[in-house]
Amino acid sequence: MPAEKLFWDQPYRTELTANVTTVAGSTVTLDRTIFYAFSGGQEADAGTIDGRPVLEASWRGTEIYYTIQGTPDLTPGTAVITRIDGERRDRLVRLHFAAEIVLELVYQLFGRPLKIGAHIAEDKARVDFLWPGRISDVFAVVLPEAQRIIGEDLRIVSAFSDRSTERRYWQIEGFARVACGGIHPRTTGEVGAISLRRENIGKGKERIEIRLARRSGADPPHALAIYPPGYVCYIAHAERPAKDSQEASMSTKISDQELSELSQGELRRLVEALEEELEDVQMERSMTLGGTGVHIGAKEAERMRNEFDRDEARIETKLEQARRHLDEVTE
Ligand SMILES: [Zn+2]
Repeated sequence: MPAEKLFWDQPYRTELTANVTTVAGSTVTLDRTIFYAFSGGQEADAGTIDGRPVLEASWRGTEIYYTIQGTPDLTPGTAVITRIDGERRDRLVRLHFAAEIVLELVYQLFGRPLKIGAHIAEDKARVDFLWPGRISDVFAVVLPEAQRIIGEDLRIVSAFSDRSTERRYWQIEGFARVACGGIHPRTTGEVGAISLRRENIGKGKERIEIRLARRSGADPPHALAIYPPGYVCYIAHAERPAKDSQEASMSTKISDQELSELSQGELRRLVEALEEELEDVQMERSMTLGGTGVHIGAKEAERMRNEFDRDEARIETKLEQARRHLDEVTE
């Protein structure tokens, strides 16, 4: 039995008594744990087990292995106390979700550009995209929209999508449902005010850096003060492409020339992104046209069917090309 992971449901718990289940040298497993190991871009916690610093925490399947400093005198069944650095955890959780919100807004409002990297550290988070031009062009829309979502203190559901493989997702009603095994806050308000910074990390590659603004009960969140709700709605809607004119994602617009310049890792991410996108279109089609309570006229249904056909064909074509390029660089 892999350890029961309490960090998912108790994101701010910093101390736990657990039993050792296996020992190999100075590496142990536990029957329950609050100590997160690096995954999905989120850095591991820092802390101690049985009073000794944890040097490394790593996943193997659904189990987490902890390597402890020194040669601990532990055997299976020994009860130990785990303590984690609560301030570090707090920042990791808030930055993680700030990155989730920003990423989702860029996806939803700017045609799903290809994400080529992400990392959540204690001082800042970053998300990298294939992006022509300056990604900071989106900040005027994304930052106030993110702060609106944070300001509304929306409930975040985090749960298993598959309990046996411990696959998880988070969901905000009316905003997004995203697969992720990281640790999430309970409401968006816990994130607090954020700031964004742009960095160019190579030709056609842009990074959004996300930081937490100082959190103090006395100060109103900086960004919220600048962007009152009315303003947020105005620019978000003014620049959001209308559903009808919304083209398929930027990933599907990558030219053959651009494809040939991508690295193996980038091609792999592109293939994954296109596969996900195809799934999204198919899910949207079945929800819209599959008779799940959405009533639209025959004419409208016909128009939407054509639109879905066109989107699917476009994604499939690009997926084929991307897979072919990936095969070429893999050989
Ligand atoms: Zn996440």
